Amino acid sequence: MSEIKHILVTNDDGISAPGLLALAQEMRKFAEVTILAPDRNWSGSGHVKTLDRPLRIKEVVLTDGSTALASDGAPSDCVALALLGFFDQKFDLVVSGINTMANLGHDVTYSGTVTAAMEAIIWNVPGIAFSLGTNEKHSEPLDYSTAAQIARQIVERTSFHTLPDGMLLNVNIPYLPLDQIKGTRITRQGLRVYRDRLDRRIDPRGRAYYWIGGDAPTGIPEEGTDVGVVADGFVSITPLQLDLTMYSVIPTLEAWDWNLPSHPESLLEQNFPDGAIREAIQKTK
Ligand code: MN
Repeated sequence: MSEIKHILVTNDDGISAPGLLALAQEMRKFAEVTILAPDRNWSGSGHVKTLDRPLRIKEVVLTDGSTALASDGAPSDCVALALLGFFDQKFDLVVSGINTMANLGHDVTYSGTVTAAMEAIIWNVPGIAFSLGTNEKHSEPLDYSTAAQIARQIVERTSFHTLPDGMLLNVNIPYLPLDQIKGTRITRQGLRVYRDRLDRRIDPRGRAYYWIGGDAPTGIPEEGTDVGVVADGFVSITPLQLDLTMYSVIPTLEAWDWNLPSHPESLLEQNFPDGAIREAIQKTK
C-alpha cells in the first residue's frame, strides 16, 4: 500500500485545457494537488528535455478560481522542474491529462501526455497518463467528468498496491456516458494506423513549405490491446516501461558476424581484391 498524499498534475494540451482542471478537481478529493503544466499546447511533442534556453514558471488562476503554475517548457520539462526541486515538497504520484484524444499504440512516444508520465518514472515517481479514448475531433466542448471520475477510481485503486519501479500506466477512457462503459481491461500496446500525408504549399514569396497532415489515425482493434478494448467500450490500462529493447531478436542478432573490418578500405579490398577501388580512394584523398 502506497499512501498518496501529494499529486502533481500536468498535461500536454496546456494550462487552460478543461481536461487538466477536471483531472485536478477529482484528484483534490483525496490528496493535495499541485498543478504545473505547459503554458501552451504541446500535443505530439514527444519526450522533450529543453536544454538550449532557460525555463520560466508563472502563477496563473484557473477558471474555478484555484491557482496553478504554468511553464514555457514541454510537459516533460514541467515534470522535471517539479521533481528536481522547484517545490519544497515531495510528490507521491504524477498524473497527466486528461488528453483530448486517445493515446493508443505507437502514439505513446509522440504523446506529450504519456511522455510526461515517462519523465516521472525517470525521477522514480509513479506516473499515470489519462486520455479520452476518441479519435474524432469534436466541435462541441468535451465532457471530461466521466473520465475524471474513472481517473480518480484508478488512482485510488493503485494506492492499495505498490506500483512496480520503472512502470507507468497509459490509461485511455472511452468517450462514453458512465453507464455505457463496460469495465476496465489491462492491455498491451496495439497497432496504430497513421494516415499522414505530406501537404506541400507555396508561401507568398514563392518558397515551398510543408504540413504533415491527413486523416486522423485509425488502429487495428485486436483483442487484448489498447486499441481493441477502447473500441469495445472498456477503459484500457496499459503498463509501459522506458526499456524499448526488442528482446526477441537479440539471439538472432548475436548469431550475425559483427566483426566488421575496422577500416572502409579493408572492406573494399575484401570485396574488390584487384585494388581498383583502393586506387580510386587514394586519388580522392
Ligand atoms: Mn494533447
